[in-house]
Amino acid sequence: MSPIDSKPPFLVFAAPDIQEPEIAEVEACLRSGWLGTGPRVARFEADVAAYKGIGPELVAGVNSCTAAMHVSMVAAGMEPGSEVITTPMTFCATVNSIVHADLVPVLADVDPATQNIDPDAIEAAITPRTRAILPVHFAGRPCDMERIMAIARKHDLMVIEDCAHAIETEYRGTKAGTFGDFGCFSFYVTKNVVTGEGGMIVGRDPKLVARARTLALHGMSKDAWHRFSDKGYKHYQVVECGFKYNMMDLQAAIGLHQLARVEQNWLRRREIWQAYDEALADLPLGLPAAPEADTRHAFHLYTVMVDPERAGIERDVFLDRMNALGIGTGVHYQSVAEHPYYRERFGWHPDQWPNARKIGQRTVSLPISSKLSDSDLARVAAAVGSALA
Ligand SMILES: *Cc1c(COP(=O)(O)O)cnc(C)c1O
Repeated sequence: MSPIDSKPPFLVFAAPDIQEPEIAEVEACLRSGWLGTGPRVARFEADVAAYKGIGPELVAGVNSCTAAMHVSMVAAGMEPGSEVITTPMTFCATVNSIVHADLVPVLADVDPATQNIDPDAIEAAITPRTRAILPVHFAGRPCDMERIMAIARKHDLMVIEDCAHAIETEYRGTKAGTFGDFGCFSFYVTKNVVTGEGGMIVGRDPKLVARARTLALHGMSKDAWHRFSDKGYKHYQVVECGFKYNMMDLQAAIGLHQLARVEQNWLRRREIWQAYDEALADLPLGLPAAPEADTRHAFHLYTVMVDPERAGIERDVFLDRMNALGIGTGVHYQSVAEHPYYRERFGWHPDQWPNARKIGQRTVSLPISSKLSDSDLARVAAAVGSALA
């Protein structure tokens, strides 16, 4: 390396950890001539079902978590205009999927320490039109599912879990996505298991999962594999007006091997989390709360809080300094209510959910990909120190 290019490369936030087995599987898939929904998707669904400890009839692959949430809510058959209570501390897709299902999003504020939806705020948001709760296991930390399920039972509400951060998450021995009527997973490039774009529906009632699966492919009674495979052509019927949300074998080819390493990668992210906890302990920053007893945190995001009064700088200045130091960061998230579309459509003001607003103004996500080396980690920690100096 010449002195001119001795500057270390930019450390990309949430770089996917892609390895040789998925590269070989993608090649094999391409050579097989079958790229669309077929045998590799079926295998990936079976592997996810096994990982969650449920039957394969309770799992359906789709092309995103957004699609998974959308068709789950359509399959649930809630009357248009029904209210769905969710968190303001989430990605816009959570709220958009509610809107696309002809339902009305209602926000309930988060707990300031866990950043997860606060069960008391859920109870306060219930109206005669409430039909569902859509909790997000933020950063991979499980929501208080005991209280959320008790509220759901008491008010006869459906529960759809947004598990985009939470494939490995468990709460008191139960796996995320298996509490409610539906659990929706994301395999987007930044998530813990990657297929590029991709998602998975996990359900409780095989009939509802089958309906969600049909809705995800035009409302057709048979997918292409079952029409064109070597078993001979089969006619299909359109039984509903569905969507184009199916997962491809090309995507599943990546997911099969990503899922095979899910636990190994989780262990590495736990190591990184613990290393950050130690390295950043004496800095003027808020660090994530420790995982709760009898839960399993997925360690998807490591979020620090930059409080200008304590840190001496604004959060956005911190982001700029990290960038200048060659470290990619993220913001998860500005409160959903900050976005103009929702403010205009629903008359929301972010001050209605003060905990989410405050977190959204201070939070910074540091890189926690399993791809990070120990020297990357040391670089990030040193950069945080100099950005605050
Ligand atoms: C990434 C994400 C989604 C959307 O997932 P896609 O697979 O990209 O549709 C939804 N909710 C949360 C909390 C996310 O982080």
